[in-house]
Amino acid sequence: MDFHALEKHEALVRRDLEFLDYPRRDWVIPRHTSAGEPVLDCLIIGGGQGGLAVAATLLREKVKNILVVDANPEGSEGPWRTFGRMITLRTPKYLTGPDGGVPALTIRAWYEAQHGEGAWEKLDQFPKEMWADYLYWLRKTLQLPVENETRAGAIEWMESEQCFSIPLSGPGGTRTAWARTVVLATGIEGSGAWHTPPQISDALPSHLYAHTHTEIGFPDLAGKRVAVLGAGACAFDNAAVALEHGAREVNLFFRRGELVRVNPYRWAEFTGFLKHHADLPDADKWKFILQLIRMGQLPPASTFKRATRFENFTMHANSPLTELGHAGETVQLQTPQGKFESDFLILGTGFQTDLGVRPELPKLLEHIALWRDRYTPPESERSADLARHPYLGANFEFIEKTPGEAPYLSGVFNYTFGCLPSMGFGGASISGMKYSLPRVVAGVTKRLYVEDKDLFFESLKGYDVQDF
Ligand SMILES: Cc1cc2nc3c(=O)[nH]c(=O)nc-3n(C[C@H](O)[C@H](O)[C@H](O)COP(=O)(O)OP(=O)(O)OC[C@H]3O[C@@H](n4cnc5c(N)ncnc54)[C@H](O)[C@@H]3O)c2cc1C
Repeated sequence: MDFHALEKHEALVRRDLEFLDYPRRDWVIPRHTSAGEPVLDCLIIGGGQGGLAVAATLLREKVKNILVVDANPEGSEGPWRTFGRMITLRTPKYLTGPDGGVPALTIRAWYEAQHGEGAWEKLDQFPKEMWADYLYWLRKTLQLPVENETRAGAIEWMESEQCFSIPLSGPGGTRTAWARTVVLATGIEGSGAWHTPPQISDALPSHLYAHTHTEIGFPDLAGKRVAVLGAGACAFDNAAVALEHGAREVNLFFRRGELVRVNPYRWAEFTGFLKHHADLPDADKWKFILQLIRMGQLPPASTFKRATRFENFTMHANSPLTELGHAGETVQLQTPQGKFESDFLILGTGFQTDLGVRPELPKLLEHIALWRDRYTPPESERSADLARHPYLGANFEFIEKTPGEAPYLSGVFNYTFGCLPSMGFGGASISGMKYSLPRVVAGVTKRLYVEDKDLFFESLKGYDVQDF
């Protein structure tokens, strides 16, 4: 990063924020527990692009008593410097989002400030590290209150305190945070977990396979036979990295009859879908997302070429695993197309939505409405996966399974990919951030205001500042 050039640009950022600084009054009424401990207006769990953007936008709405916690070390939030093995972002460079609509905060302004006008036009797609640098710059420039290496545990509603208690464990041990609202910005897998099919873990010792979101010793794969399951972007990224590290051969297996070559996510990048999927009737929400999922996911063209340029790379369609085993250190795969052997197996099997496995939710789970509690699709549209997704409100808030049993749930906002059927591309995607950010932030500010409406009315009745 060119810090000198950025210094000048940061003056522009401050000017833009100054120009947009309205309303100016701090308004949230401070709270303390009965023991006198401060209560946060909002705890944001996750310091990736989503958590940072929510924090930045809340601060601009004068919601200042906030904290962002992230389990990862500083600068390693999200996949960009950890398990993401793509070279560039998968989405086009012109997507906006974390800027919150402030031109000087866009990645283009940040890039041109360092590389000069016209440099942007020459840029095809930017490297993932550059996206991480940009997010880090936003965090520092906007002085966002992020605490790293701090993991949030089970969120619990404390009726007597009228707020949530959340255990935070970090380098200094475990402490309790108190918060009026909580935003879950815990990532693409934030409503579930990365998925290792039991068929794999039952059949193979753990040193013979790895999921794409884990550490993989690619240098050790030099000269080895590698098998990859899946045909999404992560599967191809990891196949390419294995080939680039000198794997003897890489065989990629996928269940569909042919590779998906049409990306429905590109179709979805228009105002109507991104801004208003959340406003559709349930039957339509379900239908659209089911269609998106059925159309399937694919690697970006650059990632496809990155792997297919190797002659020792082979793709196998119509190849669900029918049998799996190992003989010593050799993995033995059986598909309808035949038997295959490899020395290592990489799982490009993505994540599964299941709130039951989230460490933040065990004390809320029984009350959270899921789609299966609210909508029964026609036979031809059945999907156990979609039915497991949380049934969210218009601002990403959890909804009670049984009205009246857990009204406090509207204070917890699910800004993860688990929002898909309810909100479309809202959480954990750059594509939807432009429209999802104002929605989730409005959910937090609405709760902070409406909850204290009587106190605000008293302050109005008592208002006596004379104009002259
Ligand atoms: C490999 C990969 C590539 C992607 N590429 C693109 C792309 O090119 N374009 C695009 O639009 N989208 C892309 N996505 C989708 C999405 O944009 C990313 O997943 C993005 O990182 C989501 O941002 P986020 O802030 O929601 O979550 P993340 O960036 O994943 O951040 C979530 C953070 O939450 C923290 N966390 C989780 N649980 C806890 C807890 N209990 N306590 C404390 N901290 C916690 C984690 O440490 C993590 O740092 C990609 C996703 C992946 C996995």
